[in-house]
Amino acid sequence: MTFLTAKRILVTGGAGFLGSHLCERLLQDGHDVLCVDNYFTGNKNNILHLLDNPHFELMRHDITFPLYVEMDEIYNLACPASPIHYQHDPVQTTKTCVHGAINMLGLAKRVGAKIFQASTSEVYGDPSVHPQPESYWGHVNPTGTRSCYDEGKRCAETLFFDYYRQHNLRIKVGRIFNTYGPRMHPNDGRVVSNFIVQALQNMPITIYGDGSQTRSFCYVDNLIEGFVRLMNTDDAFLGPVNLGNPVEFTIKELAEQVIVLTGSKSELVYKSLPADDPMQRKPDITLAREKMGWEPDIQLREGLIKTIAYFKEML
Ligand code: NAD
Ligand code: UDP
Repeated sequence: MTFLTAKRILVTGGAGFLGSHLCERLLQDGHDVLCVDNYFTGNKNNILHLLDNPHFELMRHDITFPLYVEMDEIYNLACPASPIHYQHDPVQTTKTCVHGAINMLGLAKRVGAKIFQASTSEVYGDPSVHPQPESYWGHVNPTGTRSCYDEGKRCAETLFFDYYRQHNLRIKVGRIFNTYGPRMHPNDGRVVSNFIVQALQNMPITIYGDGSQTRSFCYVDNLIEGFVRLMNTDDAFLGPVNLGNPVEFTIKELAEQVIVLTGSKSELVYKSLPADDPMQRKPDITLAREKMGWEPDIQLREGLIKTIAYFKEML
């Protein structure tokens, strides 16, 4: 798909897993892309192949500090996403979510840019409503080890809607559910990358708890299509909108699929469940279907095969 008019688009967190795929997609669509990252969890290798493109620009910058650039659109993705990374320096995580949002919203306001926020299913916490529609306000611990991220992202959503109400900003808020694919960090502790890396090395597969907790896994290409569609919806549609694959698996089922697809000899080992680990998670994507005509079509098996191929080459 190519737009008639090229836009100047800022992607914060552009050297990360999702950000690098988004930069790639926006360049393919004919836009000028400025990728901003402080490389906390991102990696230059993720975007190395884009550096020769004259429409791609890279800037090392921490979004907790103001940024002065001229842009038409902003995708705000900067934030560590995996529990071990966002809990490493929880104060910085909250600052990235909150100060980062204020800085990016301030930038959007100054230059009149449209701005997208990468929010998260974690705003629902350990949900008591299942599946989760956007109207559910969540069940979040405000003082736990996941709170820096969960509450940081909730506060960012508040800021987005206040900038809309107070300053008429054009905002789009997407709530991302577990997404996987090539360029996930092999050591970031997320379940899909952990299981694949363990299986490829015939190491024990670590299931936290009894493996009956559920997640819904979206393949990265489907998610990026969702980002772009959301950004291009009518200005009246702000979200929040769930972006994820509604097909739900238990963590044990995921482990079994990974073993089959890698042909691994790994055994399952059971470890204690981390604090505040949600028991179930599955997006209700009715709104995304209605407003964006979007729903994921890459199912877990197909996505896992592509992701396994990536990690095989890396290892
Ligand atoms: P990631 O860790 O791979 O990418 C985050 C990027 O942000 C990294 O490149 C990191 O270096 C950068 N960054 C962190 N703090 C920064 C700061 N202060 N200034 C500038 N750059 C900074 O994670 P990801 O999976 O690509 O997630 C991207 C976004 O999507 C995050 O906002 C995350 O909360 C959200 N999200 C992701 C998922 C998922 O399943 N991957 C689910 C829900 C939400
Ligand atoms: N998990 C697991 N083994 C691992 C890593 C994660 O059993 O090696 C579990 C984790 O406890 C959680 C689920 O898998 O129940 C998803 O974890 P992840 O960190 O990927 O994402 P989130 O909890 O943020 O959805």
